[in-house]
Amino acid sequence: MIYLKTDEEVELMRESNLIVARTLAEVAKHIREGVTTLQLDSVAEKFIRSCGAYPSFLGYEGFPNSICVSVNDQVVHGIPSTYALKRGDVVSVDCGAVKNGFHGDSCYTFFVGEISEEAKRLLDITKESLYKGIEMAVEGNRIGDIGCAIQTHCESAGFSVVREMVGHGIGRSMHEQPKVPNYGKSGFGDVLKNGMVIAIEPMVNSGSRYIRIDDDGWTARTVDGSWAAHYEHTVVVRKGKADILSSFEYIDQVLGKT
Ligand code: MG
Ligand code: MG
Repeated sequence: MIYLKTDEEVELMRESNLIVARTLAEVAKHIREGVTTLQLDSVAEKFIRSCGAYPSFLGYEGFPNSICVSVNDQVVHGIPSTYALKRGDVVSVDCGAVKNGFHGDSCYTFFVGEISEEAKRLLDITKESLYKGIEMAVEGNRIGDIGCAIQTHCESAGFSVVREMVGHGIGRSMHEQPKVPNYGKSGFGDVLKNGMVIAIEPMVNSGSRYIRIDDDGWTARTVDGSWAAHYEHTVVVRKGKADILSSFEYIDQVLGKT
């Protein structure tokens, strides 16, 4: 069952997603050498609650924290810990918040100090691929058009796309139908309809596409120890152009990109 959202529901989802966007910017302010990923989690949880929202991830299927922090070869679902960030780390922060019954979901990959040219290229290409996917999220296209655009952009740059984890519909539940893979064939899959809200979230590795799960039952890592990057926006499908409900604008302000 794919739920189409009314305009009123879309505005509530925008509010939840902007809380997530601002939470990621708060986290961005604290990303530096020596900070632990648990400290980042605490920053995020406090900020989300100060907005009158609740961290969607906290307690989700037993997940113990408010954000996922995935460092270097960790792809997604890293559990915040006493690990202190080091210069050269690649740090994906995935965040969800629920307010007025609707969820927001977004992820950004940061880095600490200087990183290698190749790692920087992985981050750039992955973020670009997110926007390539969003360009396809318009009424009348199909789910496969999104995945194909993401996969083509990443693979032509020599990177690989994770298949086991995918994007998703989102609304009153954090994960709704349809699934939104980051690979696929254009012209295949469910038809996109006006008012569908989906989280598009390419997870891209610098080496092999294969992952394994740590003994903690959550942390997904690349099998070959290569880096991974992950960016995510929640968007509503519209005619001609998707409306992006989350935002990286607040992060860009913190990082001095605007
Ligand atoms: Mg997410
Ligand atoms: Mg998601």
